[in-house]
Amino acid sequence: MAKITFIGTGGGRFATIFQKRATGGIYIAEKGLLMHVDPGPGALVKMYEHGLDPTQTDVIFVSHAHPDHYTDAEILIEAMTLGGKNRRGMLIGSESVINGINDYRPISFYHKKIVKEVKVAKPGDKIMLKDWYELNITPALHSDLATIGFKLVLESGAVSYTSDTQLFDGLIEAHKGARLLIVCLTRPLNGKIPFHMSTEDAAELIGGVKPELAILTHMGLKVIQQATKQANWISEKTGIPTIAAIDGMRIYLEDKIEIKKD
Ligand SMILES: [Zn+2]
Repeated sequence: MAKITFIGTGGGRFATIFQKRATGGIYIAEKGLLMHVDPGPGALVKMYEHGLDPTQTDVIFVSHAHPDHYTDAEILIEAMTLGGKNRRGMLIGSESVINGINDYRPISFYHKKIVKEVKVAKPGDKIMLKDWYELNITPALHSDLATIGFKLVLESGAVSYTSDTQLFDGLIEAHKGARLLIVCLTRPLNGKIPFHMSTEDAAELIGGVKPELAILTHMGLKVIQQATKQANWISEKTGIPTIAAIDGMRIYLEDKIEIKKD
């Protein structure tokens, strides 16, 4: 059984600056694998609130070089390696995260050195996690052009994460087969802008991928104000159950998919 915790469900510049929602990313726990996805500001603090132990993490995945996705990665690498004493774990990131891009240098040389394995991931790559779980790197079209998402094949089915992206040819194909599709939704209905996912485009994506359940997260300020409306609009349009995540929400993936919001 996989357990997925939404440590933070806010995203985009202003939801992050004003902390309208927490911004700590997502935590995936499956037998023998603990993976933290896009640990933005507050991830470390919020983990303790949700009973998650950052020293146990096996994999830190950072999709691109924007602060709402990477800021807590360095301190979480220190946790994963017990202050650098225990050389373990894996850091997977886009080219821009691992090697830097323009003026962004998300991860210091020191932190890359103390992790056991550092991987620069590109769309189409397959990375084995703990010799058991296949992480398929998916493409994205975002203002950081190196941005990546993934489809992770777990025992209980595939879990997909789009990261920040607009809809483009090939995105639906890349996530096909996902039981659970996690969509970063920064823009609401009638709010479409380049390089970001809007509600209309999310519906097209979800309708094309046809997961068992779609979850909206990493929500921008305008999405947060009417998150349930966006999710319901997509559910009605596509016939696919779609929910807007809330901070601390957990999903249990087994034969059935269970949602816990307390
Ligand atoms: Zn971004």
